[in-house]
Amino acid sequence: MGHGAKDEKEFNVIVLVKQVPEAEDVRIDPDTGRLDRSSAEAVTNPFDLNAIEVANRIKERLGGKVTCISMGPLRADSTLRDSLARGCDRGILLSDKKFGGADTLATSYTLSCAIKKIGSFDLIVCGEKTTDGDTGQVGPEVAEQLDIPHACFVEEIKAITESSLVVRRKTENGYMILELKLPALISVTKDINEPPLPLLKNKIKARKAEIETWSASDLSEIGDVERFGLTGSPTRVVNVGSPHVEKETMMIEGGSSREKAKKLVDILEDLGFL
Ligand SMILES: Cc1cc2nc3c(=O)[nH]c(=O)nc-3n(C[C@H](O)[C@H](O)[C@H](O)COP(=O)(O)OP(=O)(O)OC[C@H]3O[C@@H](n4cnc5c(N)ncnc54)[C@H](O)[C@@H]3O)c2cc1C
Repeated sequence: MGHGAKDEKEFNVIVLVKQVPEAEDVRIDPDTGRLDRSSAEAVTNPFDLNAIEVANRIKERLGGKVTCISMGPLRADSTLRDSLARGCDRGILLSDKKFGGADTLATSYTLSCAIKKIGSFDLIVCGEKTTDGDTGQVGPEVAEQLDIPHACFVEEIKAITESSLVVRRKTENGYMILELKLPALISVTKDINEPPLPLLKNKIKARKAEIETWSASDLSEIGDVERFGLTGSPTRVVNVGSPHVEKETMMIEGGSSREKAKKLVDILEDLGFL
């Protein structure tokens, strides 16, 4: 069980959590075409709450410890406190100017370096996607960087032991049942559980809890600092825009209801909807 040297009995789960702007508060600046997050409240990515709940339930069954990791600005420590209030045992924030401007490749590389620094884990759980970047790439990329198996869109954990995991994975037309040898990574959908609200006493405790902050130099013995942030990102966001939607109202005049219905069906057929 586990990756690297570790306490034989402890089952270690790592949850990746990202701080995102509250979706309704994000606007696109019409002049620059960029996302304006300035007025947005920062919250934990909703899908990551499901990931935390998966980790909590596994801890209930197998014991051990849940560590949450987030990469982001210093204020992302509130997302780690939120994760601790929801049941995680340890919070690590990766924060450094050097991590800025990261695309998904650099983000997953940095996260995988931090996971290697932790040294010992059995399962990594992340959300299916984020509500801001929305690529769904970070989970699988972390698994690839760590050279471990992964399953995305997991909607049910069917069985888990210290050495393997059986999951139901959502596909476009149905589902797949997969067995993964641990250590492994899964990304989970919103259907997997309903995360409860954190208790007030846990929120108060989490406010005072220690959050470890790791900078680029803390990871420099594990990874190549040139692969962090902007210098490690082969892609660039050139522009962001919202789709332009035009509406046209068409009145169907004359005749009986049957004739009008027939005309409507013809129009829908012409438009390619039927
Ligand atoms: C081309 C490109 C350029 C970019 N440039 C910038 C930039 O200049 N500045 C900038 O701030 N952002 C930038 N981004 C956004 C940044 O890459 C993403 O915020 C980050 O890689 C996460 O991607 P995502 O939000 O799509 O996560 P997804 O892949 O949708 O997330 C899936 C899961 O991975 C985990 N996860 C994702 N991100 C983190 C994280 N940071 N910490 C912990 N867990 C995480 C969570 O569990 C999440 O549920 C850029 C993105 C792209 C595609």
